[in-house]
Amino acid sequence: MKKSLFTTLVISTIIINCTAQESNIIEIAPAPSVINEKLPLVEDGPIKNVIFIIGDGTGLVQLTSGQYQLVGAEGLLHLQTMPVTGIVKTYAANGLITDSAAGATAYSCGIKTDNGKIAQLPDERHCKTILELAEEKGLSTGIIATSTITHATPASYASHVKSRAMQPEIAVDYLDSGLEIILGGGKEFFIPSSEEGSRREDDLNVIDDFKNLGYDYVESAEELESTDSDKILGLFSLAGMPVLDRTPTLAEMSEKAISKLSQNDAGFFLMIEASQIDWGGHDNNSEYVVHEVKGLDAAVKVALDFAVQDGETLVILTADHETGGMAINAHYDRRDEVEIAWTTTGHTGVPVPLMAYGPHAIEFTGWLENIEVGQKVAQLFGVGTLPQINEE
Ligand SMILES: [Zn+2]
Repeated sequence: MKKSLFTTLVISTIIINCTAQESNIIEIAPAPSVINEKLPLVEDGPIKNVIFIIGDGTGLVQLTSGQYQLVGAEGLLHLQTMPVTGIVKTYAANGLITDSAAGATAYSCGIKTDNGKIAQLPDERHCKTILELAEEKGLSTGIIATSTITHATPASYASHVKSRAMQPEIAVDYLDSGLEIILGGGKEFFIPSSEEGSRREDDLNVIDDFKNLGYDYVESAEELESTDSDKILGLFSLAGMPVLDRTPTLAEMSEKAISKLSQNDAGFFLMIEASQIDWGGHDNNSEYVVHEVKGLDAAVKVALDFAVQDGETLVILTADHETGGMAINAHYDRRDEVEIAWTTTGHTGVPVPLMAYGPHAIEFTGWLENIEVGQKVAQLFGVGTLPQINEE
């Protein structure tokens, strides 16, 4: 009786949770034949370029799950070769759990704000961003995301609005941002309401406005690769970029951006976001998370390869917050797989990891406030001090 009840329960559980169970077992890869070598500390000197990489919703378990499945228990992802690690406290002004708007504003402006605010204080005064400081100094700048490019994280670097939902306004805000490189999804917020798929409520064609400012507009990996323009707007999908057959990849976008931005002898600031690790977390889908961590790691490799050869580039990888309360459940007696568990479909308040490579990377060791990270990068970069509040 007991046994048959148990069997019935197991079978019904399997049927009910079929999808969830399939996507929440992580298979462990065999040990790689070559383990990525750790990078050394770099001698401190002036920082010419900053590549700031944000894994949205990326906690330690997201990274570890990616590592397990991609390079096994013994292996190291490229992002794990960075010599300096820190731990970042992510709480927002109005809550212990942050969203991506307040989380990114902490890094871009060096201030804690309310959830939902894009480079604004809770009282809606604007705060200057590190990207704007870099532009004022004559540096080149870029933003890259696999979400809509007007999503909360990239928006917090080059726009000031009271709500992250104002993506049509954010697209227009980018026109006078000075940004040289804008790459991601979200064409829906740049095309007039009369065009199919538009999510604007006006007749503005923001793509045409960018073209009039001298930007080359591209829509495919081929067009991105072949453009020679110093100013590029690339929108590769109507909404967020697709998960499967994503083209260009985050790594390809990063490579193009770095090759263009590094032509400025004064230096550059580039923000790269692996946006959809967060979405995998919201879905409690570890396969999705691992897929996105793979994309992130490939982009980190591009950044590190450039930084190693350049010697004057600070690369920082961190997250705005963790998503899902992702955990690795115990399998004390096997090495071939682990089971992933989740505590929520929302964000959590656990601190997030930070990794750094390049001059002054050591400044980012230990426990850090997210605003401290933003403030330190600006100061070490020499573009000015944060926070700066616009009193108007
Ligand atoms: Zn999220």
